[in-house]
Amino acid sequence: MNHPDWKLLAEKAALYLYPRRCPFCGAVLGRDAVQGTVCPACFEAADKRLVHLPPRLPETEHAFYALNSAVAAYYYSGEVRHAILACKRGGELWRARELADRMAVLIWGAMPSHAPGRRPAALAPVGMPRYHYIVPVPPREPLPGTAGMPLLLARRLGILMQTPVLAPLYSTKPLQPQKELTRAERLANKKDAYACRPGTDLSGKRVLLVDDIITTGATVSACALALQQAGAYEITAAAVAATEELPKSLQKSTEKRK
Ligand SMILES: [Zn+2]
Repeated sequence: MNHPDWKLLAEKAALYLYPRRCPFCGAVLGRDAVQGTVCPACFEAADKRLVHLPPRLPETEHAFYALNSAVAAYYYSGEVRHAILACKRGGELWRARELADRMAVLIWGAMPSHAPGRRPAALAPVGMPRYHYIVPVPPREPLPGTAGMPLLLARRLGILMQTPVLAPLYSTKPLQPQKELTRAERLANKKDAYACRPGTDLSGKRVLLVDDIITTGATVSACALALQQAGAYEITAAAVAATEELPKSLQKSTEKRK
């Protein structure tokens, strides 16, 4: 007698109840979805245009310290910006899963899924770096009752990379409006803004630090410093998107679309 594959059935039921959607426009994905995650229209208009190539962020655009490297999948602009804000502020939390899948493919070269609903890395997790832990940046202003976007991204990446998620960081300072500060002030203000919970031991561990956006680099650097103080020896920061001056070719096409 054949036993039903409960895992597969559960996955199919979940897909029926919560169909996968394009992270940018929210359209339900059909079989023509590019890499199983993006609708063909958004792939042409947004994904291809805003992808950060190579994913490694240049030191000239950000002020990093305590980090071994920093990477992002996209430039923070246009449809990518819209998708992140809809997740963070609009409470459309499902977008975090889709964007984490894009991170796995665009940053670490995971094999994309062929159809919506599959995991991108499941086919060939070759080349995916091995981290001991994935750590989310503590959310600055999470919507009430939600986990916050960095934790959602970290959880999905944890599934894809088969890596445990740890959340030892907390902010030591009340939130200050960073926008009114200069770049130097922001860095100084942030430096001791995060710490690890007492008893956190990351001795000799490689840590992937996850945030939704990397702007100046002040937040991820301050978090990395706290992780370093808890013993972490190698820290990579990864985000969905980075704010940087767009390459000239992209600036033009972004303006046109406004
Ligand atoms: Zn779309």
